[in-house]
Amino acid sequence: MRKLAAGNWKMNGTAASLSEVAALLRDHPTPVCEMLLCPPATLITQMAALAKGTALHIGGQDCHAKSSGAHTGDVSASMLMDAGATHVILGHSERRTDHAETDAQVNAKAVAAIGVGLVAVVCIGETEGQRDAGQTLDVIGTQLAGSVPDGSTAATLVVAYEPVWAIGTGRTPTLQEIADVHRFIRERLTAKIGAEAAGVRLLYGGSVKPSNATEIFAVPHVDGALVGGASLKASDFGAIVAALSAA
Ligand code: PEP
Repeated sequence: MRKLAAGNWKMNGTAASLSEVAALLRDHPTPVCEMLLCPPATLITQMAALAKGTALHIGGQDCHAKSSGAHTGDVSASMLMDAGATHVILGHSERRTDHAETDAQVNAKAVAAIGVGLVAVVCIGETEGQRDAGQTLDVIGTQLAGSVPDGSTAATLVVAYEPVWAIGTGRTPTLQEIADVHRFIRERLTAKIGAEAAGVRLLYGGSVKPSNATEIFAVPHVDGALVGGASLKASDFGAIVAALSAA
């Protein structure tokens, strides 16, 4: 399995930010791990042009479940593909919160994405209240069962475990807590999709930085990271890519 360092730029970045991508490619032309950056939709075409022929993959941050039609403001999976994306993040907690996305909707989007040949990066994670109430594994199990399409394979699916309370806060679970959830995800995924689950990359996301990347990447069943804030700067994301390559 090739590990994956994925960056989520969220609603950040303009054409001027592409200089960070150029710097990343200059400093990490041939990393051992896979690299993925998911910019806002407005930058996909330009970033994909910059990344052409390099080790960097480009992804979207969401897609509609339908292929086209009267859905103002939305982007379809085939449009992402057409713009040069190879991956798409789906069910990020900010989508689940800001747009009330359900597991069923995330599943339908993943089916659409996989259907056109994109890799679906499906995000799951508990809130702080759910963790405090001891519901973490129940929540993760429900989200996983509902959001991951049947028949997913190691080539079509990546799962990102992102505790909502760790996103953008500087707080992270303990390494043991990450280990427990990732092992649980692997088990549940195996029950759902069989032997393919062994090859599905399980990413940890939530305040991953150069300073904590190495210890997180040593946790069993952590096959990479989904990185928000630290993916915006080439030096920080590059350091995380280097840590994952060394893991
Ligand atoms: C994210 O946006 O998926 C994320 C994990 O953000 P951050 O790294 O900033 O916590």
